Amino acid sequence: MKNNYLHNKKVTNLIGLIFVTIICGCANSNENKYSYDNYEPIILISIDGFRWDYIDRTNTPNFDSVIKRGVKTKGLVPVFPTKTFPNHLSIVTGNYPKNHGIISNRMYDSEFDEIYYIGEGSKPVLDPKWYEAEPIWVTAEKQNKKAMTMFWPGSEAKIMGMYPSEYFVYDGSISHDSRIEQILKWLQYEPQKRPDIITIYFSHVDSQGHRYGPQSDQITQAIEEMDRVIGKLIYELNEINILEQINIMITSDHGMASISEDSVIFIDDYIDLSSVNIVDWSPVMSIFTKDIKNAYNKLYNAHPNMKIYKKEDIPSRLQYNDHKRIAPLIGIADEGWSISSREQFNPNNYNGGAHGYDPQYQSMHGIFIAMGPAFDSGLNLPHLSSLHLYELMCKIIGITPAMNDGSIDSTSSFLIK
Ligand code: AMP
Ligand code: ZN
Ligand code: ZN
Repeated sequence: MKNNYLHNKKVTNLIGLIFVTIICGCANSNENKYSYDNYEPIILISIDGFRWDYIDRTNTPNFDSVIKRGVKTKGLVPVFPTKTFPNHLSIVTGNYPKNHGIISNRMYDSEFDEIYYIGEGSKPVLDPKWYEAEPIWVTAEKQNKKAMTMFWPGSEAKIMGMYPSEYFVYDGSISHDSRIEQILKWLQYEPQKRPDIITIYFSHVDSQGHRYGPQSDQITQAIEEMDRVIGKLIYELNEINILEQINIMITSDHGMASISEDSVIFIDDYIDLSSVNIVDWSPVMSIFTKDIKNAYNKLYNAHPNMKIYKKEDIPSRLQYNDHKRIAPLIGIADEGWSISSREQFNPNNYNGGAHGYDPQYQSMHGIFIAMGPAFDSGLNLPHLSSLHLYELMCKIIGITPAMNDGSIDSTSSFLIK
């Protein structure tokens, strides 16, 4: 269905283009129908699971050209847990998970008595009640700007009573090129309808990282594919003469660590699984149980590569002890370790990679590179927390940020004005 929708849009686009060409008698179809004066929008790109060091892995001429024209950080430091949804929501709200509500990809809310889970077709992802902070697209729409999302976790939910002006429900089968074509179409809308901020999301690198691991040839190919996609975007923006006016921000939500079937912690070696309810497994395990003391005593010090915390004792630097959805007992595996049970163990699932670990591990760091009229050029910057991107985006498009945990001071040196 979604495929058809995009497909139809593409056909309309093509017909529109032929029409414009005939009407204008333009020799060059690249000429714009409308003026682009004073138009400097943001394209926020997420390449899921793109580790900070992937750009140095292979030839990436297009990433390199963004870096050369703009700014590069040593890495984007994610929030805990280093999973997809908590981090995507932190990027677009500037809040820690405990303040935006998406504390994990999978979580239990005792008031709703419901489980939140992600993936194509997920109903909870569409349900506004789970989201507790204001994403950039809501901030923008509230202040008479336009936001359009070619996928972004949470962008398909009516958060705080608002959707982006245009958005798509997640469908991983939409090709990379179709996603780029969609945003090009938006950029060519008539001036009053044009987006001030666009998001676009790709899961390919993350999927390959899980399957084959961060050191694999398949990851190298996935990096090259994303370089091609960035190249296509730059080429097409240049073709319609607006490349210099677009602020392109390339981000990722986390990195990736290698895992192995030899580094698995089997929980049923230590506790009777019928006495606990494990809502999320690995590498951050969330345990609900009637007898917290008993479960804690059984699991505490059970395995040298897993730390067990009562919710209130989770180290404060992780900012993970103050939300109703955080489980009363949490297990956190060391880098490269997985948590499972003898019951569900399948060695074939451990040939690749995982994330979710403590953001202090370098392997969990993502990327942030950016270029455009707002950004200085040739800057090599230190690590940046992903919490600061929300305020940065608000500043660039000229809107007042909602309450958040980030600060504009952390990125003001990135900007020209
Ligand atoms: P993770 O399990 O943390 O690696 O999450 C990556 C997965 O999140 C992707 O492979 C998708 O299946 C899923 N995902 C990404 N965006 C969305 C979305 N907007 N809605 C639902 N699921 C999504
Ligand atoms: Zn992810
Ligand atoms: Zn992943």
